[in-house]
Amino acid sequence: MFAPLGEALSSRLGTRLWPHGWPLPLQALLAVVVFELPWYWIHRLEHIWAPLWRVHSVHHSSRRLYWWNFARTHPLDNLLSAVAAFTPLSLLGVGDEPLALMAAFSGAHGMLQHSNIDLRTGFLDLFFSTARVHRWHHSPRRHEADANYSPRVMLWDHVFGSYRFRPDVAPPEDVGLGEDAAEFPESYVGQLLVPFRSDHGRKRHP
Ligand SMILES: [Zn+2]
Ligand SMILES: [Zn+2]
Repeated sequence: MFAPLGEALSSRLGTRLWPHGWPLPLQALLAVVVFELPWYWIHRLEHIWAPLWRVHSVHHSSRRLYWWNFARTHPLDNLLSAVAAFTPLSLLGVGDEPLALMAAFSGAHGMLQHSNIDLRTGFLDLFFSTARVHRWHHSPRRHEADANYSPRVMLWDHVFGSYRFRPDVAPPEDVGLGEDAAEFPESYVGQLLVPFRSDHGRKRHP
C-alpha cells in the first residue's frame, strides 16, 4: 500500500532513501531495526492502555507456551502492528530481498521464541528475543510481563530501558493472564470479541 508513496517521496527528494547498494545482510539488519521501532511502541502501548490491552490479551491468553503461539494474535493486533511497522520501511523504499530475508528470519524465530523447550541460548539472550527472554513477557504477573517488547531483536528494549533478563534467575514457570484468565473465553468467536468487551481485563487494568 505504501510502496508507491515511498517511490514518490524518493523521486521528489531526488535521491533514493534506502541504501540499496549495501550488502544484503546489512540491509536486512537495517530493515529489522527500522521495522521494530514502531512495533515496539505499539506493543508497549498495548500493555499500558486498557483498550489496546484487550486487543493484545489474546496473544497472552495461552496458559502454556508452545511453538504455534507466535501466530496466536487477534487480527486487529496484527493489522495495527503491521501497518505501524511497515509504513516507515515502505516510505524509505526498502527492496524485496531484505524484506524476504527478514520474513524468513521472523518465521523461524517466532516458532523458537514461543517453543516449550528449555533452550540454553547463552549470550544470544542479550541480542534476541529468545524463548527464555520472551517467557518473562508471558508472565501472569504484570510487573514481570511489562518488559521485553521487541519482537525479535532486543535493541529497542535496551535503548528504552525495558529489557528484563538475568541468567541467574529462572524465567517464570507459569504463563498467561493470571487473575483475568478465568473469565477469558475459550471459543474462537468469543476471543475475537474480547477487544469490544470493556468488562474484560479489569484485574490487570482496574
Ligand atoms: Zn505482549
Ligand atoms: Zn509471545
